[in-house]
Amino acid sequence: MMEKTWDAVDRWFGETIVASDAALDSALAESDRAGLPAIAVAPNQGKLIGLLARMVGARRILEIGTLGGYSTIWLARALPEGGKVVTLEYNPHHAAVAKANIARAGLADRVDIRVGPALETLPHLAQEGGGPFDFAFIDADKKSNPDYFAWALKLGRPGGVILVDNVVRGGAVADPRVEDENVEGVRRLHALIAAEPRVDATALQTVGAKGYDGFTIALILR
Ligand code: SAM
Repeated sequence: MMEKTWDAVDRWFGETIVASDAALDSALAESDRAGLPAIAVAPNQGKLIGLLARMVGARRILEIGTLGGYSTIWLARALPEGGKVVTLEYNPHHAAVAKANIARAGLADRVDIRVGPALETLPHLAQEGGGPFDFAFIDADKKSNPDYFAWALKLGRPGGVILVDNVVRGGAVADPRVEDENVEGVRRLHALIAAEPRVDATALQTVGAKGYDGFTIALILR
């Protein structure tokens, strides 16, 4: 019952203030056709991450977890002329689908897709002087969230923002009976944030077409 209401409200906002378009719709349709899981952010969430990136005036964005490039398109559209999204994806098939979707959206020149395990790509990015990033969106394997956050902080800048998706996991994060490695990753992430004086952060629960989950958002202070 509640989930039907959440879906209906998401649709209503979608029809009122979150305008979709052919490129975004076809990114989802082509991802589905290529057999990718339907785990992209919802349209209202995609718009939110794009707005947040614009609010910090992001010129360089780091994304960890590309899938079919749906959130990447929202982020790339948030960039000013000359800006760049560097997006990290483990699965070559996902990356190939994303590449086509991003090209179809006319954003190929703004997106650099790096294929491989993010924890191998991130040190390379650091070595090549890939930072600083103004905005980071962490949305890959949840067990590695603490490492991804540490990298996003290392490659970020004061005033930059780190956004982490799927931090509620249907409420499992606060249920001590759940010992799943992904949930543990989310818990360790928040322990790290709590002990990290260089960031200030909060978390929000969300409901909607993607079920019951949430985001953590951190501001890099220094
Ligand atoms: N951000 C995407 C969106 O909203 O459109 C959704 C990303 S999906 C939730 C997670 C993605 O992370 C998957 O495509 C998965 O293959 C990728 N992934 C999983 N483990 C990874 C790793 N170790 N390194 C890089 N990417 C990884």
